[in-house]
Amino acid sequence: MSWSSGFAFFSKLRFKAALWYLVLFAASSVLLFFLVSRYVANDMLRGADWLLESTVRDLAATYLTGKNTARYGQQIPLAEVPRMELAAFRARFPGIRPLIAYRSEVGDQTFHTLFGSRWRELYEFRLESDGRAYSRLLNPEQNLPFLRKEFEDKLQSFGSDNIYFRFRRPDGPAFESNGLRKGGGDTAGSGLSTVTEDGRRFRVMTLSLFDGSVIEAGRSLRDMDERLAAYTRLFLVFLAAVLTLGAGAGYLVAWRLTSGIERVSDAARRIADGDLSQRVGAKHESDEIDRLVDAFNAMSENNEALVTELRTVTDDIAHDLRTPLTRIRGMAEVTAAGETSPDGFREMCGAVAEECDSMMQLINEMLEITRTESAIDRLERSEFSLSGLVQQAGALFCEIAEDRNVALAVSVPEQEIAIRADKLKIQRMTANLLDNALKFTPPGGRVELTLALRNGAPVLEVRDTGCGISPAEKEKIFKRFYRCDASRTLPGNGLGLAMVQAIAHAHRARIEVESEPGKGSCFSVIFPQNT
Ligand code: ADP
Repeated sequence: MSWSSGFAFFSKLRFKAALWYLVLFAASSVLLFFLVSRYVANDMLRGADWLLESTVRDLAATYLTGKNTARYGQQIPLAEVPRMELAAFRARFPGIRPLIAYRSEVGDQTFHTLFGSRWRELYEFRLESDGRAYSRLLNPEQNLPFLRKEFEDKLQSFGSDNIYFRFRRPDGPAFESNGLRKGGGDTAGSGLSTVTEDGRRFRVMTLSLFDGSVIEAGRSLRDMDERLAAYTRLFLVFLAAVLTLGAGAGYLVAWRLTSGIERVSDAARRIADGDLSQRVGAKHESDEIDRLVDAFNAMSENNEALVTELRTVTDDIAHDLRTPLTRIRGMAEVTAAGETSPDGFREMCGAVAEECDSMMQLINEMLEITRTESAIDRLERSEFSLSGLVQQAGALFCEIAEDRNVALAVSVPEQEIAIRADKLKIQRMTANLLDNALKFTPPGGRVELTLALRNGAPVLEVRDTGCGISPAEKEKIFKRFYRCDASRTLPGNGLGLAMVQAIAHAHRARIEVESEPGKGSCFSVIFPQNT
């Protein structure tokens, strides 16, 4: 492949469509992956967060209460503690901050134990059934062994080395469940955060307690990261497959869409090179391409017909002009070479003028047909009686008919028919048809010129008992210069019917021909109803 053809490929619609498909597929896949992976990561993180939060709250309860369930009962939310008991607790220790509450059932009696902090001190409070309040100052440091134990228990119950717990007092002991995380201890305040340490990510929950102690639980996100990395790898494989497929599909679709266009443009190029017979084969690819192919073929058909006709017409004109020109030249030569008297010159001049007239007539007729066909000559429409025109034509051709010993019958309906048309042209058309009928009908024959109304439309009919026209020639008689074999010996130039057709079409009229060789012909001009 040469450089230029290589570049040509890149500018092709197929390549561009494949590229577009590729970009589209890639963009939508990446967006989809981004959304899905974000959702999955968030979901995993939410699960981890919930676990860490509940674990840290559990550990905090152990630090505060030693987790003495036998003594305190079940931990409950502070909102479930009766208001009166909460009020009594606050009354005994003004400025206290309730931290945690327990509920126990003894017989049919319910007791609530409240824990709260004030000035970094921890108090326990209970309202007995007889209304006496019981309270004491606690030393949570005593609960540290329980907390250590809880660290171990939780580690075991999670059965995972991905999690750790830590406890530290601001000025006292600090311990941790395992050495999963090296650094840290600097996480200020309470809450969740993600920490990266030596390239490993941890999700950490810290809870600052009333006395400045901090409980921390953390989870390595290695599992999650590995899972996301596996998803990413899977996605990349999927993306590669999607991109290959997308590019392939784009190329194929564009190839299918453009192959019709390429076939049309190939044919157009070959036509431009001079081969007018080129057509595009129908492949039924899509409606649009089929329509393009049909329109192109119809246009090529018309163009070829036009060019062929033009060539024929040019040939015919050349031929028709050459004969009189040759005659003129012959006459001039003979006159020049011979003993020429003034009479001889006069005779020659008369003959030359006659030949020139017939050439002029041919050229004028050609021009008129072309002008009428292409509507350059606008119709001079006026309202006139078609019945009258037909009768006049009959009267005009009566003498010629008599000379040729042909009976001419004219028939018009009683009710006069008037039309709005170019009277001169309609006269011309009628005369041409009548002239032909009389010309091609042998002596003793009959010609009928009839005007009638058929389904409300005026119909002009010229019927004769002449030589008739064979079915094969019937198709061609309206072409310029066409003359049937049987009539070549008779005068004429083959332009009469071309003129008839041009005039009829200019008036949106239709021509019908019925003919049987040896029996006669009938030419009908059917005008539109509201002419
Ligand atoms: P022209 O009459 O000058 O030959 P036209 O264009 O009028 O040319 O007619 C074309 C040909 O059609 C004629 O040469 C003739 O062969 C045929 N034709 C036309 N009218 C008739 C007719 N009424 N009967 C038989 N043949 C006809």
